[in-house]
Amino acid sequence: EVVVETPEPIAEAPPVSIKVSSRERLLFPDSQVTKGDLADYYAAMAPVMLPWTARRPISLVRCPQGRAKRCFFQKHDAGSFGDHVHHVDVTEKDGSVEPYLWVDDADGLVACVQMGTIEFHGWGSRIDALEKPDRLVFDLDPDEGLDFADTKKAAEHISGQLAEIGLTSFPMLSGGKGVHVVVPLTPDAEWPVVKDFADRFARAVAAAEPDRYVAVMTKAKRKGKIFIDYLRNQRGATAIMPYSARARAGAPVAVPVSWSELREIETAARWRVTDRDELLARATSRALVGWGVKDQVLPDL
Ligand code: ATP
Ligand code: MN
Ligand code: MN
Repeated sequence: EVVVETPEPIAEAPPVSIKVSSRERLLFPDSQVTKGDLADYYAAMAPVMLPWTARRPISLVRCPQGRAKRCFFQKHDAGSFGDHVHHVDVTEKDGSVEPYLWVDDADGLVACVQMGTIEFHGWGSRIDALEKPDRLVFDLDPDEGLDFADTKKAAEHISGQLAEIGLTSFPMLSGGKGVHVVVPLTPDAEWPVVKDFADRFARAVAAAEPDRYVAVMTKAKRKGKIFIDYLRNQRGATAIMPYSARARAGAPVAVPVSWSELREIETAARWRVTDRDELLARATSRALVGWGVKDQVLPDL
């Protein structure tokens, strides 16, 4: 039985000791958001962001000169992040050992911003149990031409399919084009089992409505359909973290919402970095939706 717990009361944001340089640098030229603004955003959001992001291997989208200039996706520690950004050695498929980054406090988040980070992506598992994911995510990627209403309907439908096999899920606006359907899990099954489950589930949904969904990467097959990207559910894959900013026009952020809220929302980029106070208020009162789902394990498929 799934127990939905009342979220823990959220503490005040702790003071941040990281010094941020070039605070006036415009990271989002289209919306006047500076590096200092982004650092302040993450410092303020830390209490609601860390319950999801802390102690998880993270990959960063860094845009040191702003989102309009060169950005890069960084997976491994290059040693330059300072004491508040930690690393964990992870053995890769080829046997090599690579240092992955993780944080556990506001200083860690802000230290990443100091290094030009805009986006925080995370693994599906925590460093404490790297081989056992604590969430599944179905990343719904609509083909161009579909509107957000189609994506919302798809997310609800997929959630319904999950419910039929006993799994509680909740939606997250990606801050970009799509919605992620997130299934919190008790860390129990290991990656190969979880990936196999996600693969079979996505294929079954797509096979039942082939005109609506596609579960394969091939771009040509996506015409007019929603791609159910289940490949976020393999060891080493990442997805955008709740409340991460996106390096996209307007400085949007990824936001977990309730199913009833989703019905009223008209874009996956509904909230922006500049909506910090509103985001913090809603997150503090109710946005740990789905978090606190306890004792949820995968059924046989
Ligand atoms: P949207 O709703 O616009 O699709 P999204 O975050 O779901 O936003 P996708 O392109 O669907 O974006 O997903 C890409 C995912 O792949 C990201 O969440 C990220 O964690 C992961 N990823 C893996 N490698 C990279 C990379 N080199 N650059 C960016 N993302 C990467
Ligand atoms: Mn997506
Ligand atoms: Mn995708």
